Amino acid sequence: MQPILQVRDLRFCYDSGVPALDGVSLDVHAGERIAVLGPNGAGKSTFFLCLNGVLAPESGQILLDGKPVDKKARKTLCERVGIVFQNADDQIIASTVASEVSFGPMNLRLPRNEVARRVDHALEYMDLQAFRARPPHDLSGGEKKRVSIADILAMESEVILLDEPAASLDPAGEERLERVLARLSDEGRTLLISTHDVDFAFRWATRAVVFFAGRILADDAPQTVFGDAALLRQAHLRRPVLAEVFDVLRAQGMAPPDAACPTTVGALARLLGEK
Ligand code: ADP
Repeated sequence: MQPILQVRDLRFCYDSGVPALDGVSLDVHAGERIAVLGPNGAGKSTFFLCLNGVLAPESGQILLDGKPVDKKARKTLCERVGIVFQNADDQIIASTVASEVSFGPMNLRLPRNEVARRVDHALEYMDLQAFRARPPHDLSGGEKKRVSIADILAMESEVILLDEPAASLDPAGEERLERVLARLSDEGRTLLISTHDVDFAFRWATRAVVFFAGRILADDAPQTVFGDAALLRQAHLRRPVLAEVFDVLRAQGMAPPDAACPTTVGALARLLGEK
């Protein structure tokens, strides 16, 4: 199957002279749930900004549906690959929630009724109908995050990049976010999420990509990545709690010695029930 996005040897350097991306290559297929991991400064945000066309890479190439994205096609990249910024204040610009969410589809020059339909749908999706007329800048961190996700939903982008989306959320906000991510994935969207939450990455992702010093250190199934102690040490990542617990259960003979670590508590319970 043709990947939606192909990234080839991407390089980007900020004015400071430090290479933020130092030769990054990967393919993204439709429907993938990719956790982008790595320490602060590893290049995750810069990668996302290149991937949706906000930043132009110095060298390397991005292909969309197999076609190289040149200067002209950067607008298409922006439309088809949406980004939810880490800090909602960097994204939100309008004076009401409804006008904020309509901004993207209006920029696409869609007919008024289509803009209205998309705004209604995005507000309903993020449970924001009651906030329509509110100024976004007066909302709480979690509410602003919902608005910034609604912004991207109204663009109907096939690929959505979320840069540390849970960073400002309380536990209820995290649960709500995970329900939204599950629904988006069930609907076939392709999701890339940068996160420091290894427990979330382990249970949610179909693939884990580890960045370090502007390069990709590992790109594999979460069970493989989180099973590689040397890699985790190098990338300053810790093992998910579930993997640690599974090791103890196995060491005490309570879990099958040859079974792969389940990625969810439910799957672990099923495995132990079967034993
Ligand atoms: P991450 O998202 O993994 O924390 P970033 O992509 O933000 O990493 O940063 C990668 C590197 O680029 C870091 O060395 C960081 O200091 C540098 N950097 C990021 N943004 C800027 C910027 N606007 N100007 C200059 N350097 C930057």
